[in-house]
Amino acid sequence: MANTFKLKCKCGMKVLVPVAAVGKKAQCKRCGHQFVIPPPESSYESKTKGVPVQ
Ligand SMILES: [Zn+2]
Repeated sequence: MANTFKLKCKCGMKVLVPVAAVGKKAQCKRCGHQFVIPPPESSYESKTKGVPVQ
């Protein structure tokens, strides 16, 4: 399948990154923000470790 996936930068820009670059740094082309690419599987939403929401 696709060897790339999309991340959303804090500025709202969708950044297309290669899966092979997980753990490495990517840079948003719009705002220049640098971030470490998280693995696509461990989406923050599905991994809510029972943290109470208050
Ligand atoms: Zn950005």
